[in-house]
Amino acid sequence: MPVPPTPPGPRPRIAIAGIHIESSTFTPYRSSFEDFEVRRGQDVLGRYPFLAPGSDLREAADWHGVLHAGALPGGVVAAEAYAAWKTEILDGLAVLVEQAPLDGLYFDIHGAMSVEGMDDAEGDLITAIRGVIGEEPLVTTGMDLHGNMSDALFAGVDLLTCYRHAPHIDTWETRERAVRHLLERLRLVTPGTPAPKPSKALIRLPILLPGEMTSTRVEPARALYARIADLENRAGVTDMAYLIGFAWADQPRCSAAIGAYGDDARAVEHAVLELATAVWQARHEFEFVAPTGTFTACLDTAIASGERPFWISDSGDNPGAGGADDVTVCLGELARRPEVLRAEVSVLVASIVDPETVRIAHETGVGGIVDVRVGGTIDTRAPGPVPLTVRVEATDDSPATGPAARLRVLDADRSTGLEVIVTARRSQFATSAMFERLGLSMTGADIVVVKMGYLEPDQYDAAAD
Ligand SMILES: [Zn+2]
Repeated sequence: MPVPPTPPGPRPRIAIAGIHIESSTFTPYRSSFEDFEVRRGQDVLGRYPFLAPGSDLREAADWHGVLHAGALPGGVVAAEAYAAWKTEILDGLAVLVEQAPLDGLYFDIHGAMSVEGMDDAEGDLITAIRGVIGEEPLVTTGMDLHGNMSDALFAGVDLLTCYRHAPHIDTWETRERAVRHLLERLRLVTPGTPAPKPSKALIRLPILLPGEMTSTRVEPARALYARIADLENRAGVTDMAYLIGFAWADQPRCSAAIGAYGDDARAVEHAVLELATAVWQARHEFEFVAPTGTFTACLDTAIASGERPFWISDSGDNPGAGGADDVTVCLGELARRPEVLRAEVSVLVASIVDPETVRIAHETGVGGIVDVRVGGTIDTRAPGPVPLTVRVEATDDSPATGPAARLRVLDADRSTGLEVIVTARRSQFATSAMFERLGLSMTGADIVVVKMGYLEPDQYDAAAD
């Protein structure tokens, strides 16, 4: 629904702040200052396509960016980084509040941030923010569906919603919806006077499933999320959130949760109860998005298969869920596998983070041959770095990966069927454009090994099995 035209007179004052990361407590990787892109002040607005100058949403309010820190999924956030940004956010909001009361806050979070020594980082942050801005401003958020809804977060947020697709093809659409609903509600009152709070409801379900079992490409998640459109169209219901929760953190708040808000308390409660009941009834139907097995078993299947390319995902080391991205179980086994060494089957490992090997490859140059030890330095648990003799096939330096290199593994000076991409930063080769930068195609190898929870759209299209 479009926001009604701006009436004459003052516009609502809305602040934007948040810290966005999904962080696993099961990886040795620790996320800190250098992992985040931090925007401050009015630069925060540049993050949102729907707040571009001249857009209806931009013109509908006075926007005040405070601080937004965003990172790729990673390990637990360093306590000092969180503390520093929290202080900046609180100080910035205090300055704004001193000038004039805020009408709203867009709390831009993922919802699965783990911070050293804390069990509920987002709950802590919103509670502290409420301490500064007060209870009256409307707070909206559009979370990742892998976020968690703690009691403290639910208490602090008035308008809650989350993505409805995994893979997350609706990230920006969700954020825009969260902001649009905030503006619609603020339009009901003169800026500076409190807008009526919606009724909201939440049911937390004792179900905790990984992303690999809850892709909306497959049932039952597809059908469960499809019900939201109908439920939120009911009179008195504005928006709904079905949070899968985050399985890779060991915290009490991690669970599935169904939330909704709107102007009719009974309708809101009913919608939440209806969806929560459906999720509960389907709880044993969730299955992995693909067959699972040990790497050896998967590789046996892939080699024997006639389907090319055959994709295998090392989902236990998925950087998209906070994994280290340098576990070498697959690479080590591939480098010993006779069919691969004899080049009877071609295999591409895309990718492993290893800044040191990337540096050596760039120094060696394309065509050069060099001995390297790949991976196993962030996650130092077995099997550790894999010693390889490689020929540098291509190098690249892209915003997505930092410096990167494509390496052909050699065996006694002969080319094997194995290539591995190494990157300076933890990366996911999710798009065909990323493969092309290194002279590759997504369908070029017989077997492609990635570290994903589920395949992203380009990958899904490329994989024959
Ligand atoms: Zn997610």
